[in-house]
Amino acid sequence: MKILKFGGKSLANGKGIRTVVRIIEDKVEKGEKITVVLSARGSTTDELEEILEKASKNESYLEQLEAFKKYQLSDFVGVDFNQEFSILDKLFEGVSLLGDYSKRIKDQVLSQGEILSAKLLTQILNEKNINANFTDSRTLIITDGQFGDAQPLDKLSKENVIHHFQKYNGATVNVVTGFIASNTKNETTTLGRNGSNYTASLLANYLEAEELQNFTHVDGIYTANPDLVPNAKKIEKLSFTEANELAYFGANILHAKTIIPLIEKDIPLRILNTFDHKNEGTLITSAVSEKGIKSLSVLEDVALINLEGRGLLGKAGVDARIFRALAHKNISVSIISQGSSERGIGFVVEADKAKEAKSVLEKEFEADVQKRDVGTISMERNVSVISIIGQDLSTFHKPYNALIKNQVTPLLFNNTLTGKNVSLVVQKSQLHRALNVIHGEIFEISKKINIAIFGHGLVGGTLIDQILKSAKQIEKRKNIKLNIFAVANSKKIVFDKKGVGLDWKTKVEKQGVLYSIEDVVKFADENHLENRIAIDNTASQEFTGNYLGLIAHGFDLVSSNKVANTLSFDFYKQLRAGLEENQKQYLYETNVGAGLPLIDTIKLLHLSGENITRIKGVFSGSLSYLFNTFSEEERLFSEVLQEAIDMGYTEPDPREDLCGNDVGRKLLILARELDLSNELTDVNIHNLIPENLREGEAASFLERLKELDAVYQKIKEEQKPDHVLRYIGDLWGDLFQEKGNLDVKLVSVPQGSALGQVKGSDSIFEIYTESYGDQPIVIQGAGAGAAVTARGVFGDVLRLADKINK
Ligand code: ASP
Ligand code: MG
Repeated sequence: MKILKFGGKSLANGKGIRTVVRIIEDKVEKGEKITVVLSARGSTTDELEEILEKASKNESYLEQLEAFKKYQLSDFVGVDFNQEFSILDKLFEGVSLLGDYSKRIKDQVLSQGEILSAKLLTQILNEKNINANFTDSRTLIITDGQFGDAQPLDKLSKENVIHHFQKYNGATVNVVTGFIASNTKNETTTLGRNGSNYTASLLANYLEAEELQNFTHVDGIYTANPDLVPNAKKIEKLSFTEANELAYFGANILHAKTIIPLIEKDIPLRILNTFDHKNEGTLITSAVSEKGIKSLSVLEDVALINLEGRGLLGKAGVDARIFRALAHKNISVSIISQGSSERGIGFVVEADKAKEAKSVLEKEFEADVQKRDVGTISMERNVSVISIIGQDLSTFHKPYNALIKNQVTPLLFNNTLTGKNVSLVVQKSQLHRALNVIHGEIFEISKKINIAIFGHGLVGGTLIDQILKSAKQIEKRKNIKLNIFAVANSKKIVFDKKGVGLDWKTKVEKQGVLYSIEDVVKFADENHLENRIAIDNTASQEFTGNYLGLIAHGFDLVSSNKVANTLSFDFYKQLRAGLEENQKQYLYETNVGAGLPLIDTIKLLHLSGENITRIKGVFSGSLSYLFNTFSEEERLFSEVLQEAIDMGYTEPDPREDLCGNDVGRKLLILARELDLSNELTDVNIHNLIPENLREGEAASFLERLKELDAVYQKIKEEQKPDHVLRYIGDLWGDLFQEKGNLDVKLVSVPQGSALGQVKGSDSIFEIYTESYGDQPIVIQGAGAGAAVTARGVFGDVLRLADKINK
């Protein structure tokens, strides 16, 4: 025998009741033996309660009563509710005359809801030739007589039930009213709100049913509320103990009194969705799973009260006074936290009781406040509680770290010794993000990294395409989901919280909207995006003004833009302080030598205490090409330069390369990695452009390239034999001082030296250190170009993602 229980929503007019009938028909056809326990239909119980209230206050209730009757009858022809309706009429009339009602009367009123419901279903089933039997549970379940919340007398009730089912068994489907019972004097009692679940489990217990199937309007129990956490998953199976833990958080199906009769007889409980037939629901049994389940539950509308005072240490009875005072006003306390210093106690109450709680305590502690033993009694109303059920402190650092990384700092936390439960009080405004972060940490294999990309020119555009192309692979291999939620240029932006696709470019063009950085933060906040990274692929100084703001709003930073690292040393320090304060990272491997692993290497060497004594190298790909080719071949300087321009190796105005500032900036960035506090003005830069050509439009300069020939031909010819020209950056001197020497210059080096053998547009960096002596560490390779730079930025993103994933 299986017990099927249907709740009010399942039995509502229209789709509800039709579906219930079909479920029953189906089971009967399959030859299953079933008993059906019903709740009142729709919101019948609430309605009856309301009408009763109205009647007792002498308000007019007749209209609502008529509507109620109409709902019950709906278009069910032939059903006869005369008896029930006339009972209700009389009861309400009496209450209205008296201006009051007792709990006894209330039970009589409410009980009609279940009777109407069971009577109706029985008739419908009978019409379908199903042998259904209306069973009034008042004749079966006998209680102690406490109206409104009666306790069944087990022995008596069990005898009645068994006797009844001996009489009506076999092919009969007993349709039993839930919730209602009677006392030994034959008066109607009820088992408390949501009591029909209790009725069902009592029947299951008495009849030793095979299973109790509770039909609801949800698919089962979830790892979190799917309305708040889109990735919430249904829990297929859990134990009664675990379920019991959930019961404290509002899952009324799992109320302790409901599941105890099931545990006693080891009867599985299945929570099913009436409206989704195929779903297997959640099965609750006594078997404890090895791993244990976890689930998140939320108390949304609560307030935090904090009583603080220096005079509380060691005083006995303070807590007792607090709770006694609250208990007097029937204010229940959920989470409590008090430290060993006893300097204060914080606890959580329902939001609408907060004000009262505060004033009750202010009264109770009036004298103590005067004596200054108690300082303040404060109240924080906009908070929520997240409980991680099944969580103990051994692995709690994971969700906790994830929260901190995502800038959610809980106000209070608390764990229980039994039942494994850690609860956190968070600001209500952060609830959504906090839930998703914790859920992601505990349940989801893949972590989502939410990326905003600023600048989609050559490097930026290539990066977006690279990320989109490898995202699947990366998710598979590293369990990291890269989600580009924003792409922007200097004016416009497109947002897509689910991540842009290959058509991002047209989207920016066609749907891009004007924006400020606040809009980006707002979008990320509103969509509760966690693990944020902002990537700066612009060359803009203005944009670096956004860095600190982004950091403060939870973004890690990656940039190919060099500007932020070469502004004043004050800004440099300020940025690092901001990073530290917000526990954020800033990576910029591509600032020097594009994708070559240079900055990371220098950082590591420096951090490990290795003394870096000099860094020297060809920093610029375009100038590398220019001088490598010019030194090698018998060609005019202007000819080689023109070639470099034509191949896109230089900036559109090649003077941006030739002036040496770019090399200067790169050199400065490396110097600052070594904790040197140099400024850009400290760099001695040999400007390769003759003075008379430095001003004026790019176009006119491009026409006058020939004027460079004489200068460079002379330099070339004056070299020693087997020497070549190289434009280098050189950081040297006593690097333990506050500042180092930074030179950017054109040098002539032996062809066979490390610098001399560089080919094409390669960069080379020689890192001299104390341990390595005269033999520098050499890093060489393509040090420029959109593809390798984008790869380098991508590398930084993955470095950050790795950290987030730990
Ligand atoms: N109809 C009653 C109520 O709403 C009992 C139940 O539905 O379980 O509380
Ligand atoms: Mg109900």
